[in-house]
Amino acid sequence: MKKDIRTISSTELEEFLLKKNQKSFVAKQVMEWLWKKSKTSFEEMKNISKSNRELLDSNYIINSIDSEEIQVSSDKTIKTKFKLFDGYTVEGVLIPQNKRMTACISSQVGCSLSCKFCATGTMDRKRNLSAGEIYDQVVHIRRQAKENYNFSLSNIVYMGMGEPLLNYSNVIQSIDYLTSSKGLNISKRRITLSTSGISKMIKKLADDNIGVNLALSLHAASDEKRNQIMPIGESNSLNSLKKALKYYYSKMKKQLTYEYILFNDFNDSIEDAKNLYSFTKHTPSKVNIIEYNPIDNGQYEKSSELKMNHFISFLENKGVVIKVRRSRGKDIDAACGQLANKKA
Ligand code: SAH
Ligand code: SF4
Repeated sequence: MKKDIRTISSTELEEFLLKKNQKSFVAKQVMEWLWKKSKTSFEEMKNISKSNRELLDSNYIINSIDSEEIQVSSDKTIKTKFKLFDGYTVEGVLIPQNKRMTACISSQVGCSLSCKFCATGTMDRKRNLSAGEIYDQVVHIRRQAKENYNFSLSNIVYMGMGEPLLNYSNVIQSIDYLTSSKGLNISKRRITLSTSGISKMIKKLADDNIGVNLALSLHAASDEKRNQIMPIGESNSLNSLKKALKYYYSKMKKQLTYEYILFNDFNDSIEDAKNLYSFTKHTPSKVNIIEYNPIDNGQYEKSSELKMNHFISFLENKGVVIKVRRSRGKDIDAACGQLANKKA
């Protein structure tokens, strides 16, 4: 089987070319076509000689993604179903908010973590996405922002399908291409990685000095409750997460984000707010209160406005920085956690 050329480095490509008695500088040109110019066939690489294009074509493939279905919500959110080379599909979303254009991208086909409130969690994890497949989603969504709304992409969030920290090396490679001159040159400050909480990988992110914003999907601030909705908590207690996050902050000096979905009569009492406060107070942080987006066969409901307001006021009085995130694209199942909601 031919190798996907975007899974090899520029140095490996140079070595290949040298072995075939070709000039090594061609590797850099090819890499530029592949990443910076996002070309999906060797034929389009204009400054590469025909014989070299043929050489590459007979040794490598380019596993790019294609948009298969596009849905536009009444609130202008655009959801795209992307088809992968092996027939699997993932979804990516463009969320326009005035001039701010956010791309929400997937990192895995499905997810292995089975959070009780998430549609992706009801699918198994089929496979990891390659760095190229993650990168391509941004390229497509960036073009949609320009073509439909005439704005540049302003933010990228790894909040689509899958757990990014369980596909660590490909996710990191995608960030490298998205943020460097080898690719799209987007600032790391505009990228947020959201995780369900894998302590040792959070530490690794800090050690590797990745420098993106980090969001933890907290959703409950006692182990007993969190484990009921997020099985990953069994092996990653709140205590271990707190340590990992403090470590992350001590190295990166970046404000952390906590995501908290309010579920009716489950995690929306003042007692729960107190737990949330004591969990988050150790480092500079902000809390995104997320409106629950119902999923098929889900066992939870969203909180009432009244309870939500009490919860929020309690935290605000304690000085917690809170943002309420209303769902977007609900009519097309493009809201957080709804990806893959209407699939077999
Ligand atoms: N696996 C990562 C990133 C993808 S999920 C994570 O869990 O963080 C992206 C965000 O959507 C997470 O905060 C997740 O908790 C949230 N989410 C999942 N299902 C949801 C739902 N039904 N309603 C609202 N948010 C949901
Ligand atoms: Fe996976 Fe995140 Fe959904 Fe949990 S919330 S099942 S970790 S995608």
